[in-house]
Parts: sequence; structure tokens; C-alpha cells
Amino acid sequence: MSYYNRPSAELRARVALEKHGFHTTHSLGQNFLLSEFLLGHLLDAAEIAPGDRVLEIGPGAGVMTSLLAERAERVLAVELDRGLEPVLSEVLEGVPNAEVVYQDAMKADLRALMGEGPYRVVANLPYYITSDVLVKLATAERGPESICIMVQKEAAERVMSAPGSKSWCAMAATVRFYGESQVLEEVPPEAFNPPPHVMSCFMRIDRHDQPPVVPKDRGLFLRLINAAFAMRRKTLANNLKASFGIGQEAAREVLLAAGVDERVRGEALDLEALCRVADALAERMG
Ligand code: SAM
Repeated sequence: MSYYNRPSAELRARVALEKHGFHTTHSLGQNFLLSEFLLGHLLDAAEIAPGDRVLEIGPGAGVMTSLLAERAERVLAVELDRGLEPVLSEVLEGVPNAEVVYQDAMKADLRALMGEGPYRVVANLPYYITSDVLVKLATAERGPESICIMVQKEAAERVMSAPGSKSWCAMAATVRFYGESQVLEEVPPEAFNPPPHVMSCFMRIDRHDQPPVVPKDRGLFLRLINAAFAMRRKTLANNLKASFGIGQEAAREVLLAAGVDERVRGEALDLEALCRVADALAERMG
């Protein structure tokens, strides 16, 4: 078939979904984006460029995968549902720089899949794994340069939340440590097939060139972020005791050394204060 006769990715996907009698599974968050017009617009905003190596999580019917392959050097897509294999094979036939592997993205070794060198992530994910995926990507050693991701509007609000606000949470603090977030586009339910019950936002998070704080022990700092929000009604001292197995007096001394009020709740602290606490804890724990 000549290039000019080739049906669009959207048409190929619609035909393949129909031909293979594919039915979306609600429990896998299968709300597909099939409109090339919308996807092209989102990828323009994401500034996917010819040299990019892209990891796509959850390619679904593969329309976004095809458009990514037109713009980027290489696309590796990780899909959990093997039932999509006949659809994806057909949609991506003749797209040499796109490859699909069938794995759970939450369990996959993403660096091993992407090999050495920089890569970017693009994903329209099931919303129930948004937070886990964001934390996995943001905390990965030599993780992605940027993450462009469709999320439920409430999740976007959490990612963008200010320290101390109601939405400020471990995920928000972890993502803020990783990079600079912006909402590129609000996307209404009708854009998806089938439509979800919620508004969505396409976000872009660019990894910081220079991290906003430099903890003495990065692993401990990330653990502290989780501990600080573990039991929101408890003071940070109590959360420290529970998560790090230290006594009341030791917890008090750590907070004192960090210049933080001993009655404070973790959710009131910004990244700088969390980093001071993690450093004091690192010092104490040797
Ligand atoms: N990107 C496609 C699109 O925009 O049309 C599909 C989006 S759909 C919201 C989410 C996709 O992620 C589905 O194809 C689903 O099967 C897949 N998925 C769900 N859980 C996954 C996981 N743990 N790892 C990889 N893919 C997953």
C-alpha cells in the first residue's frame, strides 16, 4: 500500500477494534483517546521532538503510539492487556520505530526497557494507578527527562498543590522534588471512548536541572516524605516514631535540630523543611 493510501491511525484503530471485537475493560481503566486531532494537539503541547526516545505507558488501541512514532525517534509502549495485541499489531503494522511489550508498567524495570540514555514518558493511564506511576517515575534512578500524562482533574490539582494546603500530599511533594509541573490542557469526558465520569487534565512535568533541595540521603528523604503524610492526624514526631522506630525524645531532638516545631504535622512542611528533617534524621541514624 502506498504511503498516500494508508488510512489514518485513528481509522486503523477503529477498524481493528471492530474487526477483533475488542471490548474495553472498565477495571483496566480503558478509556481510549482515538481522535488524531486531539492527540496531535496534546503532543504539540508536549513538544515531542524528532530526537526523543519515548516510553508510552498503556498504549490502548495505539493511536497515540502511531502519532508519537511520527514525531519521535523511537517509541516503546508497555501495555498490560494482551487482549489488545491483535489490535496493536494491526494499527502499528509498518511503523518500524514503535514496539509494544506486554507487561505491568508498575512492575516493569523501565530503565532496562529503555536502555541507556535520556527518555521521556507519555501516558494516558488508568486513573487508579496515576499516583503510583508518578511516584515510580519521579523517584527512579536516572528517570525520565519529562512526564506528559493524562490525569483526573483532582489528581492534577494535587500535583499542583502548595505545601500546607489541603491537597498537599506525599505524591505532590515527591513530584515537586522531581520536577516542574504544568497543566497543558483540560480534556472533557466526551473526548474519550468510552467517556469517564470525570474531567481530565493533560500535564507536563519537566525534571529539574537542579533539584530544589539536596538531601544528604535521597532514599531516606523519600521515605521521610511518605512518613510525614502517613497518618495525617498525627504529629510529625509521632509519624517519625512509627516509621523509623525511634523514641519520643529522639523524634523531638530530630525536629529541634531541623528547626521545626515539635508539634507540627508533616503536611504543614514544604520541601526545604522536610529536607532539614531528613538530614537531621540521617545524622542521628548515622
Ligand atoms: N493510551 C491509550 C489511549 O489514549 O487511547 C489508552 C489509554 S487507557 C486510559 C489506559 C491503558 O493502560 C489501557 O490500554 C490499559 O489496558 C493500560 N493499562 C492498565 N493498567 C496498566 C498497567 N499496569 N501497565 C501497563 N498498561 C496498563
